[in-house]
Amino acid sequence: MKRFEGKVSIITGGGSGLGRAAAKQLASEGAKLVLVDLNMKGLEESKQEILQDIPEATIELVEANVAKEEEVEKYVQFTLDTFGQIDSFFNNAGIEGKQNLTEDYGIEEFQRVVDVNLNGVFYGMKHVLKVMKEQGHGSVVNTASVGGIRGVGNQSGYAASKHGVVGLTKNSGIEYGQFGISVKAIAPGAILTAMVEGSLRQMGGEDWEATGREFVKANPMLRFGKPEEVGYLVAFLLSNQADFINAVVVPIDGGQSYKY
Ligand code: NAD
Repeated sequence: MKRFEGKVSIITGGGSGLGRAAAKQLASEGAKLVLVDLNMKGLEESKQEILQDIPEATIELVEANVAKEEEVEKYVQFTLDTFGQIDSFFNNAGIEGKQNLTEDYGIEEFQRVVDVNLNGVFYGMKHVLKVMKEQGHGSVVNTASVGGIRGVGNQSGYAASKHGVVGLTKNSGIEYGQFGISVKAIAPGAILTAMVEGSLRQMGGEDWEATGREFVKANPMLRFGKPEEVGYLVAFLLSNQADFINAVVVPIDGGQSYKY
């Protein structure tokens, strides 16, 4: 089944983890991709990995910082100049930030995390939704987190930004449904990517793998999620099959956020 034949998708954070996994899935279903990231090396790796499996894939790379509105405008304009349309948008780039108690979290760190995770998502929607409204169709998936629907602790900036992403998703979803556009969010639990490895290293240092084994004991499925599992969900939510799913947050966490 090729749900993205003839369609154009932008993916931010496409140079690693969940963005790369979603890119692979979308490319396998025929999407033309614009992958955006701060990290050009990561973008090149994503492109090579995808081309190994899908040599006919169309993949453009844009180095941009999602926390800067002018760079967001740049990747949106690049996509229009190159392909003339934007059918789906995985608004996904994000950072975890340093873990600390609220009193020690630090204003600069708070600002840094919010700039990327919340402002970056807002800038992306601002510029992409305008295009989709003119087209009369489109789908957006924003990456929130279980930290956007539950308290996690030691993550003031992350919690504030991801709860903000949930709010933006609901707000834009109800605004843009009338234009044939759906806006949803995903709330991943712990999926084993570079970001989660970094988080486990903050908690456990060199012994981070042992920390990881302890960490997943609290999960009803007793394991981390896999990036490709998120890729499958994102592809479904961005496809026309999910057009009537709007303004919602879909957890993908093995059930952990519902556990007492
Ligand atoms: P990752 O670190 O593997 O990938 C994130 C990518 O975003 C990196 O390639 C990085 O270079 C890029 N990026 C960071 N800041 C950027 C910026 N300012 N502009 C452009 N690109 C930038 O992490 P991941 O796990 O794939 O995370 C992707 C998203 O999923 C993030 O929003 C994260 O908060 C969210 N998330 C991840 C998990 C998880 O368990 N992995 C859980 C919940 C939410």
